[in-house]
Formats: sequence, C-alpha cells, structure tokens
Amino acid sequence: MPDPGTILATITQSLGVIRIIQDLLKTEKPDVVTLRTQIQALREQLLDAKENVLSFQEDNLNFKTLNATLNQRIPELTSEPPEHAHGAHWFVNDGPFCTGCWDSGQKRIRLVMVNSDGYKLLGGNCTCPMCKTVFTVDAKRFP
Ligand SMILES: [Zn+2]
Repeated sequence: MPDPGTILATITQSLGVIRIIQDLLKTEKPDVVTLRTQIQALREQLLDAKENVLSFQEDNLNFKTLNATLNQRIPELTSEPPEHAHGAHWFVNDGPFCTGCWDSGQKRIRLVMVNSDGYKLLGGNCTCPMCKTVFTVDAKRFP
C-alpha cells in the first residue's frame, strides 16, 4: 500500500526532472540525448505516481466502506451482552432480538410479531426477518 509520503516524494522528484528539462531548454543548443533521457525519467516517475495514486484511492475506498460498516455496528459491538429471556435476546429495555443472529455474528436483528393479524406461524409467534427463524416469545413482552 503506497503512503502519501511515497507519492509526494515521486512528485517532488518529477518536479526536479522538470527543472532539469527547463534548464536544458534555456541553453542555445540543448543536448537532445540528455533531454530525451530526462523526459523518459519524468514519464516513468509520473507513471509510478499515477499507479500509487490509483492504489491509494482503492485502499481509501476500502477503508471508507469498512468504516461505514463498523460505524453502523457500533451499538452492537459496544453494548452489553443481551439477556436471554422469554424466548429471545433482550438488551436493556429493548427487544426481542434474534438469538441466532446475535450469537453467530453479533447482529442485533429485531424479531417481528407475525400472528397479530391472524397469521399463525408453525411453532411460534414471531420471526427473525434476517434468518427466518421462528420464535415463541411471551407476547406480553412485546413493546
Ligand atoms: Zn436471525
């Protein structure tokens, strides 16, 4: 992974080569061979800088994506462990949440009551919208 210091050093070297080229062009009869050599060096340095910037840009995008993901999960990753009660996981005055989703990946997935409109799940009264597990939770405990 290139760091900004490496990229900056390459750009600084490139500016030095440009200064040499400018000085050569100020002479009455510029040395064409030296000029070509310096232009080639400049081209190679700029290609290196371009490659480093592209790599740095890709790394930056990956870090931004990771940062956004971690920011979304801060409540899950920093909270106290849930209490298991009444057929599900509960956080302080909040729940019910899926036991499987929390236990396997610490994802706080709120259970959804599904039989309030007359629809009855086989073996339970609520489900996890993520993993579709059916739970029987004390209905009085639903907020
Ligand atoms: Zn789940």
